[in-house]
Order: sequence, then structure tokens, then C-alpha cells
Amino acid sequence: MIVKEVNGMQGLFAVQQYNVNEILFVIEGEEIHVPTRTSIQISSSVHINVKAPLAFINHSCFPNIVIDQKKIKVIKAIEPGDEICFDYNQSEFDLANKFECVTCGQWIKGAKHYKDYPCLMQPNSSFHHLLEKQNI
Ligand SMILES: [Zn+2]
Repeated sequence: MIVKEVNGMQGLFAVQQYNVNEILFVIEGEEIHVPTRTSIQISSSVHINVKAPLAFINHSCFPNIVIDQKKIKVIKAIEPGDEICFDYNQSEFDLANKFECVTCGQWIKGAKHYKDYPCLMQPNSSFHHLLEKQNI
């Protein structure tokens, strides 16, 4: 995999094929309890402050990978040249850096805000109790 810049934004791109269910990475790094711009949430209360190349994985509403606790798993076959992306709304409860999706223009804020999304998403099951607690 390589980090390269496309349209002024750095991202992580495949240089080989990956099949569905392959584990691309095991997330490693410092465990923290407050999300940062480069952290990945692995459970309802734990975030991991990741470094390159994981810190370069961009959001997509049409992702080809998913965060499954500490594993990063392929959910859609990846071809050489494809950008590696996951859906931040699925994996993060409340994003530290909310932003507008470059593809669809909706605000990406995290599962906590799922009612703001035009198409109802299914938040990661580990967030259900957080949503209940906040009565959202
Ligand atoms: Zn989008």
C-alpha cells in the first residue's frame, strides 16, 4: 500500500488485490479515551491514536474496509489503484473533526448524530448502549 496525494488530499491506496474478509491491518498504538483527528475508535470507550499509514485512511460513504475492534477487514474486493476507505460514521461515535464528505456533501459527524443523516445508517452495534444512555 502507498500513501499518495489525489486532488490535494493524501490517502492510502492499494498496489495489489485484496479479497473480502482479508485482514488488512491490526490496529496498534496508544490507547486513549478522547478521540483525536488521527484516532480510530475500536470500542465504545477506547480509541487508538494511529500513525502512518493508518492515519491516512480517508472516509467514504461507500467503504471497502470496516473496523472490527482492532482488525481492519476488507468488505469489498480491492483492486490495485483503489483507495482504501472506511465509513467514519460507522466506526466513530462522535468525530473530533467533523467535515463535509467530498463525494456526497453530507456532514460526517459520527454515529451519535445518525438521525441527521438522510439515509438511516446502522451505527456500529458497540454504540447502541451509548445511544440509549443519551436517549438519542
Ligand atoms: Zn459521502
